[in-house]
Formats: sequence, structure tokens, C-alpha cells
Amino acid sequence: MTGGASGIGRALCRELARRGVHVVAADLDAAGAERTAKEFGCRSAALDVTDAQAVRDLVTEVRREHGRLDFLFNNAGIAVGGTADELTLDHWDRTIDVNLRGVVHGVHAAYPVMIEQGRGHIVNTASLAGLTPAPLMLPYTATKHAVVGLSLALRAEARAHGVRVSVVCPGFTDTPLLDHANPGLPQTATGAAARESATRTMGRLYSVDSLAEDIMRGVARDKALIVAPASGRMAWRGVRLSPAA
Ligand code: NAD
Repeated sequence: MTGGASGIGRALCRELARRGVHVVAADLDAAGAERTAKEFGCRSAALDVTDAQAVRDLVTEVRREHGRLDFLFNNAGIAVGGTADELTLDHWDRTIDVNLRGVVHGVHAAYPVMIEQGRGHIVNTASLAGLTPAPLMLPYTATKHAVVGLSLALRAEARAHGVRVSVVCPGFTDTPLLDHANPGLPQTATGAAARESATRTMGRLYSVDSLAEDIMRGVARDKALIVAPASGRMAWRGVRLSPAA
């Protein structure tokens, strides 16, 4: 589980551990990953998903230790907000590195292992911003659209090898991500703005616990696209979405 120290990844570690899965909470925030591990009786690892070799090493280590790799949750992500003219190339690069390359590194490391096993499930966290444009979050929208595309395309070819691929598209969920969405930029897309927007468009922020349960339900049913909250149809900034697949 990448991004296992906080928010959605932490809640998913708990759900997986509850189901008897041996979980590795991997995160850039090593201390946070350790806290998750202690709390839910799993293992932790310091991991930067932008480091392809480190991701490969961790996958190899887990497989050596447990004999197989049943799941990879590529969940780590960052949100950088701001108007297009405020964003620097550095903001773009960083978002692409974590949100897109991070997922690519996970897939590249785990997919061949899962093909060899003839089984496995890769679950990538995108966002509703991977299905519709998120205003003031260009790099986020671009990378999350890429993650949706990558996941659905991979799913189509993975099936022949017994490997499952799902992509998760959460709406605004109450996690620390919303509070550090704007490093070094003017106050256009702060946590407060995100929270206000969530409340206005969705009625409320979704709870991380409900989200984790929805995700696990979708994973158990091998859904291609897990949209949450998925209570019927959802309106987001005037765009009507049907929870697909
Ligand atoms: P969060 O900030 O609580 O957790 C993200 C975790 O990713 C953190 O622990 C952080 O340390 C880790 N991380 C960041 N960069 C990393 C790196 N280079 N290597 C390894 N770990 C790294 O945020 P969250 O809301 O739990 O987000 C989890 C995922 O859900 C992200 O991909 C995010 O884009 C997505 N998402 C969140 C929301 C929301 O409203 N919270 C909505 C849609 C999608």
C-alpha cells in the first residue's frame, strides 16, 4: 500500500489487515507508515514512489518474504492547486512524478510478478478529477486522467494473464491531502477552499472510513472503476456522473 501513512491509504491498510491480508504500509513519511503498521498489525516501509528502483526492491522483498504478491495499491498522491499562470514547471513535474510516474513504477514492478503468478490485483487511486476537470487543479486533473486511462487499458490486457486491475475515483474525502494542496502558491486552492467546494458540490466531505469500505467492496467485486461515494448518481460541478462498471 503506497501512501499508507495517512488518509485513504491508512484506512485501506486497516481494512486489508482486518481481512487477514499481510499488509506493507509504504510511504515517504516513514514515521507515519510505522504508526499505521503498529496500529493495524502490519509492516511498514519507507518508500518514495518516484524512485523506480526502490519500488522494484520493495516488491521483490515482499514477494521473497511472503512467496507471492496478491495486491498492489498504488495510492500515494499529492494535490497541487493554483491557476495555470501561478503553477511553475516544478509544480507540474512534482505532480507528474508522484501521481503518474509513481503509479507507473508500481505497475512496472508488480505486473510481471503477477503475470508469473497467474494472479494478482493492482488497484490504482485516481480521483473524480480523473473523470471530470477539477478547476484550479490542472496537474492533478491531468495526472489523474492519465491514471484512469492507464488502469483501464492495462485491465484489458491483464485479464488474459489472470491479473485484475481496478481504478478508484474518490470524491472529496476528509483527509490531510485537502490541507496541504497548495505548497507555495497563492491562496486559490487551499484546503479551506477544497473543503468549501466539497461541501457546496457534494453536500459534505466523504468520510475516509466509508470510502475505504466502498473501495474494498469494489475490489472484492473486481470492479474496473470504483467511484465513491457511489450512492446512485452524483453531481460534481454540474457534471452528472454514473458510477460505471
Ligand atoms: P493524504 O495526504 O492523507 O495521503 C497521501 C499519502 O501519500 C501521504 O501519507 C504522503 O506522505 C504519501 N506520499 C506523498 N508523496 C509520496 C511519495 N513520493 N512516495 C510515497 N508516498 C508519498 O491524502 P489522501 O487523501 O489519503 O490521498 C490518497 C490518494 O487518494 C491520492 O492519490 C489522492 O490523490 C487520492 N484522492 C484523494 C481525495 C481526497 O479528497 N482526499 C480525492 C480523490 C483522490
